[in-house]
Amino acid sequence: MIDYHVHIGKIFYDRKPLTPKKLIQTMDEEGIEKAVVLPIENPEETYWYNTTDNVLKAYKRYKDRLIPFCNVDPRRGYNSENDEKIKFIIEEYVKKGAKGFGEILANLPFNDKRMKNIYRICGEFGLSIIFHLGGVPNQSTIGLTDEIGLPFMEEILNEFPDTIFVAHGPGWWAEISGKVTPEQRNTYPKGKIEKEGRVQYLLENYPNMYADLSAGSAYNALTRDPEYGVIFLDKFYNKLLFATDYLYPGQELPIIEYIKNISIPDEKKRKIMSENAKKLLKLE
Ligand SMILES: [Zn+2]
Repeated sequence: MIDYHVHIGKIFYDRKPLTPKKLIQTMDEEGIEKAVVLPIENPEETYWYNTTDNVLKAYKRYKDRLIPFCNVDPRRGYNSENDEKIKFIIEEYVKKGAKGFGEILANLPFNDKRMKNIYRICGEFGLSIIFHLGGVPNQSTIGLTDEIGLPFMEEILNEFPDTIFVAHGPGWWAEISGKVTPEQRNTYPKGKIEKEGRVQYLLENYPNMYADLSAGSAYNALTRDPEYGVIFLDKFYNKLLFATDYLYPGQELPIIEYIKNISIPDEKKRKIMSENAKKLLKLE
């Protein structure tokens, strides 16, 4: 198994840090061969940064187990639609081993021009991007924002066809239902999926759209309507990545048992658990 979304280090005020050693120990217990480690370089949500340099340092110690991503806050320096200096920063990280970009937690509209610069550069380097989607613009929320129905995201998927986007977060997963209100968008809505939503539409129609199965938001989306959860995995197995968002010791990770026990064909399960990740990370 490859876990496509974890964090290490001191990031929360009231929780023990997840050390690389403890992360590896949990991976061994759960049968997870490799984990994508995401730096945190935006000031939203956490109390400390965990920089790309920190993640690259951990990678040096556990080269066969950890897959480092890089991160740059889009508000750095004079970043704008075509700021090449951001490209030099990312290029340096790629040379040191970074295999993707994220997690983006910046509270900006999905189509902000500073984000567009990052999307373009990541496409040029073949780096997949993991982003956290929060509420609608001007709501008190963390992560990128988009209107109901994700029009900014669709605009970006069209504008940057060479960039792979991996979605995560409550704002994304609430859109698994065709009936979602602005008040529900950054929450964990319950109840049956009576009408499919924009999640399914974007996964189906855009080759550069993927989603990771991490955190309470994905777990809620898969289990709010258990029968539909299986149908969803069976249909979109090519676009989904097993992931936990493991970030502090003792955290419950119900997605691990869920995915191990779900009844879909083995070859589809293998895609979700590791093969899609290998493809995006260009492993093997
Ligand atoms: Zn995360």
